[in-house]
Amino acid sequence: MRLALAEAEHAPLTGDVPVGAVVLGPDGSVIASARNEREATGDPTAHAEVLAVRRAAAHLGQWRLTGCTLVVTLEPCTMCAGAIVLSRLDRVVYAAPDPKAGAAGSLWDLVRDRRLNHRPEVVAEVLPDPAAALLTRFFRPNGF
Ligand SMILES: [Zn+2]
Repeated sequence: MRLALAEAEHAPLTGDVPVGAVVLGPDGSVIASARNEREATGDPTAHAEVLAVRRAAAHLGQWRLTGCTLVVTLEPCTMCAGAIVLSRLDRVVYAAPDPKAGAAGSLWDLVRDRRLNHRPEVVAEVLPDPAAALLTRFFRPNGF
């Protein structure tokens, strides 16, 4: 999570919302990392989770991320939850919950929907405070 937070801290340099993600391989080593790059790339799908999942798959040379864990600083949205299910990640660990758009337990629970053919384990609210503080600072730079 510390590495994901470090990624998130760099996102505002390009005007991006501070969200960072890493993927741990089956042996627990970091195989991919990413931060939100929507503004940096002009790509509406360039969320940290999607980019980290793509990079992890490229690293492993296969689309299935069986045995891997996604660690992300903010609860995934519906798009990222879809990517998580489709990539067959074993586990999702997130920091700050997102009551307005979270799809891993807050507003929706897409990643654990029993109608889908894959349901990763979800570990919520790991080190939520520094991740939430980054977001608060980004959206309310004057503290109001
Ligand atoms: Zn997303």
